[in-house]
Amino acid sequence: MNILDGKALSIKIKEEVKFEVKKLQEDEQITPGLAVLLVGADPASAAYVGMKSKACRGAGIYSLVHEMPETITEASILDTIHMMNTNPNIDGILVQLPLPPHVNTTLILEAIDPKKDVDGFHAYNIGRVTTKLDAFIPATPYGVMELLKEYNIDVKGKNACVIGASNIVGKPMGTLLLNKDATVTTCNIHTKNLKEHTLLADIICVGVGVVNLITEDMVKEGAIIVDIGINRLDDGKLVGDVDFKNVSPKCAYITPVPGGVGPMTIAMLLKNTVKAAKQRKERLNA
Ligand code: NAD
Repeated sequence: MNILDGKALSIKIKEEVKFEVKKLQEDEQITPGLAVLLVGADPASAAYVGMKSKACRGAGIYSLVHEMPETITEASILDTIHMMNTNPNIDGILVQLPLPPHVNTTLILEAIDPKKDVDGFHAYNIGRVTTKLDAFIPATPYGVMELLKEYNIDVKGKNACVIGASNIVGKPMGTLLLNKDATVTTCNIHTKNLKEHTLLADIICVGVGVVNLITEDMVKEGAIIVDIGINRLDDGKLVGDVDFKNVSPKCAYITPVPGGVGPMTIAMLLKNTVKAAKQRKERLNA
């Protein structure tokens, strides 16, 4: 069994990003900027935003967190996004999800200028990713693909089982694997007999949020397992969706939680922000 070490690769990527930021500042007098909208006081969301801001600072990216109360109106969030869309110092806009139930998430995500949509959740970017055009790729599945690439894992022709079908994790994960010629099955909560699908898989990417969803009997010998899930146990420990202890001996490769996909997500967000800043520079020079 080999560990897919997302932490190590994320450090490497963050160093590359830092170098690119320095170059942009020196050569073009541009500092990439990321604006984050945090609505409400959910501790997990606040923690994720904190990690993203810290990573930005570490890489020399200007970051701004706009905090709003849980009761904020949809109109006020839209106003803030419009303000950020027109702010020339902001290259990337990220709305930390989930939003409160009274807010229409799609409406909010669609209000972000696609050129600043560094999370890659706008339909414009989703469509372009699906058609293999240049776009902002959602950071989590992007990070998974980079991790597989780092370990020379070619997904072409492999059976890939993606479990979880959200717009931000599962669906783009399936799309990226398909774009690299894997045979993809995407499962969701209504999938009948999940094990039937996972047992056929050379690669399993699971992002659901259920502790121990993937057990030893569901995995074939030599499979590659990517655990995207993040679950906090009562004792505060972070675990994924895979029963790591019993599944890992059967795998060729597996990501740990923590230290697998999580750090890659943040690294790819920084990479997307620098990409947006470079595109700003190109537009200015055009
Ligand atoms: P979500 O709730 O939007 O979607 C969950 C998906 O899982 C749905 O498609 C649902 O149908 C499916 N599902 C639920 N129970 C299932 C079951 N028993 N069998 C099969 N499918 C099932 O969640 P999300 O935002 O996509 O996040 C999923 C998980 O990934 C969470 O644990 C989240 O914390 C984690 N996550 C991790 C990162 C990271 O950087 N590692 C980033 C984003 C999300």
